[in-house]
Amino acid sequence: MEKGNRYGRLLVIGIYRNSANRIICKCVCDCGKEKDIYAYNLINGKSTSCGCYQKEVITKINTKIPIERYSDIFMKRDSGSTYEAIGREYGVSRQAIKYICDNKR
Ligand SMILES: [Zn+2]
Repeated sequence: MEKGNRYGRLLVIGIYRNSANRIICKCVCDCGKEKDIYAYNLINGKSTSCGCYQKEVITKINTKIPIERYSDIFMKRDSGSTYEAIGREYGVSRQAIKYICDNKR
C-alpha cells in the first residue's frame, strides 16, 4: 500500500497510523471529497468511495424499488435466489440487491 494507489473511486494521498496503531489512508474520492479510511477496508474491497457510491446506489434503488418490496427481496434471497436473478426481476444491478440485503434493517 502506498500513495497513489487507487481503490475504486478512492485515491490514496497519505498514510498514517492512528492512536490505536491502525493504518489509516487519507484518500481523495473522485467526487472531490477527502476521507480517512482504514487500510484494511481498502485492501479487502469494503471501501471503494467516500460514501457517494452507496448514495447513488440507494437513489437508484429507491426510484425503482419501493421500500415495501424489500421484504419480498429478503424472502427471495433467503429461499436461495441469487442477487443477479433478483436484480434482473427488479431491473437493477446485482450490486443494488446485495446492498439492500447487506443493509437489512
Ligand atoms: Zn465520493
